[in-house]
Amino acid sequence: MFIEPRVGNGRDAARRGWIEVVVGSMFSGKTEELIRRLNRARIARQRVEIFKPALDTRYHEHDVVSHNATSIRSTPIQLPDEMLLLASGCDVVGIDEAQFFDASLVEVCNQLADHGVRVIVAGLDMDYRGQPFGPVPALMAVAEYVTKVHAVCVCCGEIATYSFRKAASAEQVLLGETDSYEARCRHCFLEGRQEKSASAAAEFKH
Ligand code: ADP
Ligand code: MG
Repeated sequence: MFIEPRVGNGRDAARRGWIEVVVGSMFSGKTEELIRRLNRARIARQRVEIFKPALDTRYHEHDVVSHNATSIRSTPIQLPDEMLLLASGCDVVGIDEAQFFDASLVEVCNQLADHGVRVIVAGLDMDYRGQPFGPVPALMAVAEYVTKVHAVCVCCGEIATYSFRKAASAEQVLLGETDSYEARCRHCFLEGRQEKSASAAAEFKH
C-alpha cells in the first residue's frame, strides 16, 4: 500500500512539493485510490483542493465519484491553468480524469510541485486502442511516485490493464459507463479487437 510522504510546513514548505500519479484501466480503482489519499490528507488537517475536467460530468457535475460510489467534492475546470489560481494556499491538490486535459497539465503540475504542493493525479494511461492517453504518460515521466492499479478482466478473471470499448465509435473520447467499456487483460483485449475488426470486415462485404 502506498504510504503518503508527509507534507512539510513552515520554512521548508516550498522544498516539499512532489507529483504522485495513479494510473490504470477503467474500473482499476484510480478514483478510489485518489479519494483515499485525499481523505487521509484531510485527516492530517492539510488544505486540499480537487479538480476534474469540466467535460466529464458522467456521474456528477461537481463531485469526483468512483465506480464503488465513494465521492469527494471537486471543482470542474476547463484548463489546467485555472488550478494555479484556485489552488493557491493549498497543501495538496488532487486531479481526476487527467487524460482529458491538454499537454499544459504537465507544466501546471510541475509548477505546483515546485512551489511546495503535493500533487496527486489520477488518469487512464491508455485509451480504448491501447495507446498512451493525453498528458498522462508525460506526467508519469516527471512524477516522483507512479502507482499502477489493476482491474479484473471481465472475461477471464486475470489482472486487467486495458479498457475495451464495446461500442463501435472510433473517437478517442467517448464518455461512457459499464455499457460502453469493460476491463480486460492483454489477451482478452486482443481477442476482442480481432473479433471486432473481423465483424467490421464482414459487414463491409455485405
Ligand atoms: P477507476 O477510477 O479506475 O475507473 P473506480 O475507483 O471508480 O475505478 O472504481 C473501482 C471499483 O469498480 C472497484 O472497487 C469495484 O467495486 C468496481 N468494479 C467494477 N468492475 C470492475 C472490474 N472489472 N475490476 C475491478 N473493479 C471493478
Ligand atoms: Mg475514475
